[in-house]
Amino acid sequence: MTRSTAAANSGSSLTQDAYERLRADLLACRLRPGTRLKIAELCTALSVSLSAVREALARLTSEGLVVAEPQRGFRVAPISAAELRDLTEVRGEIEGMCLERAIAAGDLGWESDLLAAFHRLSRTPERPPEDPQRLSEAWSAAHGAYHKALVAACGSPCLLRLRSILYAQTERYRRLSVPLAEADRDLNGEHQEIMHAALARDAARARALMKQHLELTTRVLLKQSWLLEPSAGSKPHPAYQPIDPPLYPSRNERRLACDEQGAGVV
Ligand SMILES: [Zn+2]
Repeated sequence: MTRSTAAANSGSSLTQDAYERLRADLLACRLRPGTRLKIAELCTALSVSLSAVREALARLTSEGLVVAEPQRGFRVAPISAAELRDLTEVRGEIEGMCLERAIAAGDLGWESDLLAAFHRLSRTPERPPEDPQRLSEAWSAAHGAYHKALVAACGSPCLLRLRSILYAQTERYRRLSVPLAEADRDLNGEHQEIMHAALARDAARARALMKQHLELTTRVLLKQSWLLEPSAGSKPHPAYQPIDPPLYPSRNERRLACDEQGAGVV
């Protein structure tokens, strides 16, 4: 490998790393909806070049997680009741189409992978004991893998690509719904029922159960009008509270942190 090829490869892996870190923070709502994203601060916090951050932001904009504002830069995509309703309806249709095709075409390998993905999900705690207000990363990963396994045999790359974009866009809402979830909601039971219908090749039942599964999360959130309008002045959701220390500190915040550390040494 030549030196220039190695440098290009290491540059592209840094860009990929910056994209993945930003995406994970957006999906987990560690970057709050509506927050302005300052490119220079992201470069410093992520230790990558201006072009790497720009490329990551362009990809996240195309996924609907970031919005680009002419002359004003980038902002974390806001959330709203209207978008949530729209997303839920469209996602219900697309998930249903993928599911129906997967049920028609799925073989023994699809069935086995689905059973394994459900087993992992059902054995993974939903919330970390030290922070019960948030979904655990392990559960979120297992949940994503289970829903992906359900539709894996769909056979249409185009439909699956669309499904994965919609899944990511609803991930932020899913995380926000966690502290509000009704105690009597049996998520594990819902996932099990969808899986049983899929394995029994009952496409109509699987579609109906999936639609209901998506609508339940939406219903929990839509009961909380203040959640979708954080400026309304009522008690803010944990996802809107400042993170301490800040995830991507500004230049001033970094200087203050250095001063504090320095004070102990002098
Ligand atoms: Zn689910």
